Amino acid sequence: MSDESRLIGLLNRIDGRAYPAYRDAVGEWDMGGFSLFIDHVQGDPFAAPSRVRVRVQTAIDSEICADPDSRLAAEDWLLRQFGAALKSRSLGSGRSGSVGVLRPGPEVEERSAMRLGPDGVVEARFQLGFPARGRRVLGNNAWVLFDEVLREAVSALKITDGLLGHVASVVRQRGLRRAALAAGLVAFVEDGAILARVSGVDQGPLVGAVPFVSPPSLRVSLFVDGAQIEGMGVRSGVTVIVGGGFHGKSTLLNAIQRGHLDHIPGDGRSGVVAHPDTVKVRAEDGRPVCKVDISAFLGLLPGGRETRPFSTADASGSTSQAAGIIEAVSAGAKVLLIDEDTSATNLLVRDAVMRALIPSDKEPITPFVEQVTGLSADFGVSTIIVVGGVGDYLRVADTVIGMVSYLAEDMTEAAKRLVGNGRGIERRIAKLLLRCPVAGSFTLGRVRARDGRRVSYGEREIDLVGVEQILSVDHAWSVGWALGLLNLQAKAGRNVAECLDALDEVLDVSGVDALCTGRHPVGGMIRPRRHEVAAALNRLRGLKVEVKAR
Ligand code: ADP
Ligand code: MG
Repeated sequence: MSDESRLIGLLNRIDGRAYPAYRDAVGEWDMGGFSLFIDHVQGDPFAAPSRVRVRVQTAIDSEICADPDSRLAAEDWLLRQFGAALKSRSLGSGRSGSVGVLRPGPEVEERSAMRLGPDGVVEARFQLGFPARGRRVLGNNAWVLFDEVLREAVSALKITDGLLGHVASVVRQRGLRRAALAAGLVAFVEDGAILARVSGVDQGPLVGAVPFVSPPSLRVSLFVDGAQIEGMGVRSGVTVIVGGGFHGKSTLLNAIQRGHLDHIPGDGRSGVVAHPDTVKVRAEDGRPVCKVDISAFLGLLPGGRETRPFSTADASGSTSQAAGIIEAVSAGAKVLLIDEDTSATNLLVRDAVMRALIPSDKEPITPFVEQVTGLSADFGVSTIIVVGGVGDYLRVADTVIGMVSYLAEDMTEAAKRLVGNGRGIERRIAKLLLRCPVAGSFTLGRVRARDGRRVSYGEREIDLVGVEQILSVDHAWSVGWALGLLNLQAKAGRNVAECLDALDEVLDVSGVDALCTGRHPVGGMIRPRRHEVAAALNRLRGLKVEVKAR
């Protein structure tokens, strides 16, 4: 007897029985053309839907399956096709017939929802609401779900029209990123790119936006697979983006902020690439800080409070951003992105009048403008900073990009003429303290995320509102799981950077599935960067850290 007939038989047998009878269907079923794996059955029709997988042979070229960049692109493409073809149906009470599959945004990322093997076999992981009438099994409708609904989605995995273009676009972006790095750039914006988005909540390209044009003096030609690509190169060092309000400064920075990721064709940003270790830092008053050495920015605090290291349950704008910068650098950031719009002004600069009014020994803050060149020289960390109102950064800038009516201009010469040759005060940041997270203070608990702005980790909620590079609910959830892996590393007494190195190694070797500790792989994981994992760890209330001098 075929598996299909056996499954029909089983569904007939349990029809009308109490809902948990569905558990008899757990296991692998050969559905004729694809395999269905029922891994976990929901407790009742109103609970989170059941976890299933399908596995099917695709017709995808073995060269695509064998090349890591191409395979990742193909997985992304398959997930989009599958998601579009997998449609919820109303098949009974509660969530009967509902489907849950990761819905990707415009970024191409390594995700657990779709895994393509070297043999062209693909596995999709998703959720199905098993049908019920009341709390009783509805066998006929379950067969509709497994047969009709699934078969239609699976057939979408076999069509390869459009796949090659998608793969080529992603491969080109990855090649472009490598070429930009090899040319000593930290970011590159291709001519013709569309940077503006529909709105703050819609990441689609803005229709009618002014396409990007590189200023001739900053224009760079990169070669990717023999093709020449022209655009604006952002060199390492200190780059300042200036311009009037509403002229496109933040839009440019926001595009670079996602430039470590590839984008789908048609997004407008597939020619915007950035260093993989580009980290946005901003002020986040109210966040906790646990033993971060912010002495470079803040000296004697009122009441003799220490800043090497500094801890608080409720940081101010300046202390939160100072901690953010130091944490990012310690976690391996190579490019910092800062926008005056989301910064603590008193951390960025202090003007001459304020210096005269408040003597240095009464003002604990050494502004970032005095550190930014040292960060580049001593730590190899470049900065791209947007400023509208604070001219002091022009002194320390290697490059000044002006945004005028959405068009970029090279204003480096003009700015230097205004501020003269002096670089201003430059300081050096002393060697940072090493931080070792105490494993017992963040053991893995249940991970839950409702949106991309917070994740709960056991009993605790981590506020991620200020971690702008966490892009979605799945991303936040994955970051939560990654803390569990980090915890294993912390048990060995490693410091934060060493824990993150080990995490990256595990993810390199075992892929994104390594994040999930359950018996069966689940479909909601997105491979997080070390930077977002570190950011979540550093915002976990109750985290304990031991510090060591280097
Ligand atoms: P700034 O940071 O300089 O104040 P923004 O980057 O926030 O300005 O941009 C202001 C507005 O202009 C935003 O609504 C943005 O979407 C829009 N915008 C930015 N760049 C472009 C462009 N190239 N074409 C059309 N509109 C744009
Ligand atoms: Mg702005």
